Amino acid sequence: MDTKLPSKPNPVVKPLERAEAHEANPWQQAMEQLDRAGKAMKLEPFALERLRHCKRILTVSVPVKMDDGTVKVFEGYRIQHNMDRGPAKGGIRYHPSVSLDEVKALSFWMTMKCAVVNLPYGGAKGGIICDPKKMSRGELERMTRRYTAEISIIIGPDKDIPAPDVNTNEEVMAWIMDTYSMTIGYSCPGVVTGKPIEIGGSLGRKEATGRGVFYVTRELATREGFDLRKATVVVQGFGNVGSNAANIFVEHGTKVVGISDVGGGLYDPKGLDLHDIMEYRKTHDSIADYPKAEHIAIDKFLELPCDILIPAAMESTITKANADRIKAKYVIEGANGPTTNEADAILHKNGVIVVPDILANAGGVTVSYFEWVQDMQAYFWSEKDINARLQEIIVGAFTEVYEMSKKEKVDMRMGAFMVGLRRLGKAATIRGMYP
Ligand code: GLU
Repeated sequence: MDTKLPSKPNPVVKPLERAEAHEANPWQQAMEQLDRAGKAMKLEPFALERLRHCKRILTVSVPVKMDDGTVKVFEGYRIQHNMDRGPAKGGIRYHPSVSLDEVKALSFWMTMKCAVVNLPYGGAKGGIICDPKKMSRGELERMTRRYTAEISIIIGPDKDIPAPDVNTNEEVMAWIMDTYSMTIGYSCPGVVTGKPIEIGGSLGRKEATGRGVFYVTRELATREGFDLRKATVVVQGFGNVGSNAANIFVEHGTKVVGISDVGGGLYDPKGLDLHDIMEYRKTHDSIADYPKAEHIAIDKFLELPCDILIPAAMESTITKANADRIKAKYVIEGANGPTTNEADAILHKNGVIVVPDILANAGGVTVSYFEWVQDMQAYFWSEKDINARLQEIIVGAFTEVYEMSKKEKVDMRMGAFMVGLRRLGKAATIRGMYP
């Protein structure tokens, strides 16, 4: 295999200000969003009730022989929230803060996301409670392979298709593809997306989430009448989503004035030199000590002056504790669930427009869908085609959500829920109930 894991795994991006108890429980947060939207749009009660429960929850123990010869058992999950509109789809994350409620919420948001952009998928998510920063490449590979074997009873190209998420990358996807293929006896590229190109991955997949974030922001600028080239952007998180989104904004002439990773934040009102920062990152664990920009404490980062704030780290980083101090006019959610419901209400009151996660970061799963279609047909498309189709889907979904929010006089999160729930409600009703 000629793809390489980076010498160190992607930095683990932690929430800045973890909200307490209820505000920090993503499943409770997600169910509140569902209830509010379901009630407002008078969703069929049986569809609403079904969406309040995950279809399948699998908890697995993952024994791994560590490099020192000891055996450590990790806890992992694969959750299929809903499959009414097609096979389940969603990433796998490796992080110490993974929990059952977090994976449940993330699987629910995948159901919503796929419905909002109208992909023929339901929602799923997986995760392992572990700290990949403290594990060797060999340990990560053995953990991934055993986890894949454990969840192989429910995944498959027609059933449930994993993908990358926080701290998992294309090499991890290659191990999943290989392990699954070995157990069934033939190569099965369609079992996972976000793979290396050499084994059935798609051009443009790596940049897709960041690209989608850019497309929705550009549409928002057109609708709201602001000039994107004169706007300033702050990006929280420098993983796959944050770094690609920041680069794509700069490519299109928008100034990125702030970026951060788990170690700290950087600020330069004249615009950061992302290329230089990427070079710096190659030899340093964090960008925090990069010498040619102002250093910003992690708990002050979201409050930087800017027009557009892109949280692209973890859930619950915008909370009732900091929402009032956010200066951006627009928040584009690159991460899943970065804004708590309490914070959402504060932003709304302050006139901040939030483009919700289930629309803003849907570019990733959209190109995952393209990858899966290409794998199933064994026929591959050009990057130009992929980006054009991605743009068409994201712009179409943005338009639907924006218009729904205007028509119903609700914010865009509610608008997106209404668009997605309408499709999910119809699917549930048309299929009816078994038995
Ligand atoms: N983990 C990504 C997300 O949250 C991608 C999922 C996928 O491609 O299936 O949307």
